[in-house]
Amino acid sequence: MRDLYEVLGVARTATQDEIKKAYRRLARRHHPDVNPGKKDSEKRFREIQEAYAVLSDETKRQQYDQFGTVDEQEIAARYARSRAGRGPRAGGAEFRTVGGFTDLGDLFGDLFQGFGRQPAAGPAPLDAAVELDFADAVRGTTVVVPVRREVECTQCGGRGTDGRRPCPRCHGAGVLVHTDRLRVRLPAGVGDGDRVRASLRDASEREVSVQVRVRPHAFFERKGDDIHTVVPVTFGEAYLGSEVEVGTIHGPVRAKIPAGTQSGQRFRLRGKGVRNLRTGVNGDHYYTVQVAVPRVVSPAGREVARRAADLYPGDPRATLPRSL
Ligand SMILES: [Zn+2]
Repeated sequence: MRDLYEVLGVARTATQDEIKKAYRRLARRHHPDVNPGKKDSEKRFREIQEAYAVLSDETKRQQYDQFGTVDEQEIAARYARSRAGRGPRAGGAEFRTVGGFTDLGDLFGDLFQGFGRQPAAGPAPLDAAVELDFADAVRGTTVVVPVRREVECTQCGGRGTDGRRPCPRCHGAGVLVHTDRLRVRLPAGVGDGDRVRASLRDASEREVSVQVRVRPHAFFERKGDDIHTVVPVTFGEAYLGSEVEVGTIHGPVRAKIPAGTQSGQRFRLRGKGVRNLRTGVNGDHYYTVQVAVPRVVSPAGREVARRAADLYPGDPRATLPRSL
C-alpha cells in the first residue's frame, strides 16, 4: 500500500484545505471519464479516492499517522505485538502519542490514557468580498455578503462516486459549492482594503473574512482617517481673505481663508475626518485652496488684470532656477 500522503502529493503537515485541493486537482486529472480505457488511470483514481477518504477524516487520519493503516484488526495485531515486547515500531509506523483516539478508546484504553485530545486548529476563515459606496463606508452600514464554500455532496456523502460511476450531482468532486448570504455589520470608518471578521450563523459557526472595497467619491478623497478636498476661491477671496463654506463628510463648515492665501495652500479642519476604527477618534479634513480664474476675458476684465499686476512687488518667478 502506497503512502497516502504520497498518493495525494501533500506534506504530512498538510491542512484539510490543502488535502482537499490536492484531491480535487488529481481527481479531475485521473478521472476515468477523462481517460477512457486507461487501466492505469482507473487504478490511480481509486488510490486517490481511498487516500482522500482517510486523510479528509481527522479521526482516520490520526489513526493512519499513528499506525500506518486504518484497518482496526491490523492495528490491534500491531498493538499486541508491541505489547509482547517487539519494540514500539510496527510495520514502519511508530506508536506516537498524538492523542485524540476517541473511536479506539475502549480497545486501547490503557495505551491512550493520560493523553489529552489536542485542540484542533480551526479551519481557515472563508473568503468573501463586498463593495461599498463611499458614504456607506464612512457612516457604517449593514451588508448582505455572498459567502461561497464547499460542502460535502449530499448525494454521495463526499465519496465522489456511487460505486462504479462518478456521482452525477458533484461529477466526482465529492463536494458542492454552496452560497450563504451573510448579513455583516460594517462599522463607521471601514476603509478600502479592510477585512472584517464575521461568522456563519449555522452550526459550523465558520469564520468569514470579508474584504471591503470602497468606491471612490468624486469630491471627497480619503487618506487614512483624513479627508482631502479642493476648494476653488475667487482672486478677491484669496487676496482680501474671506470665509467660505467647505463641504465635509459631517456637513458644511464655515472656514476662514486668510488674506494673501496662495493657490494650492492647504488648511485643516480638525476632527472633520473619518472615525478611526480602533481608537474611535476622528481624522481631520484638509482643504486645498485653488484660485479660480474667470475663463471669459472682457475689456473691463483686461483693465482689472492690468491693475492687479501692479499689486505684485516683483516677478513671482524670480526665485525659480532657470535650468537643471
Ligand atoms: Zn456527489
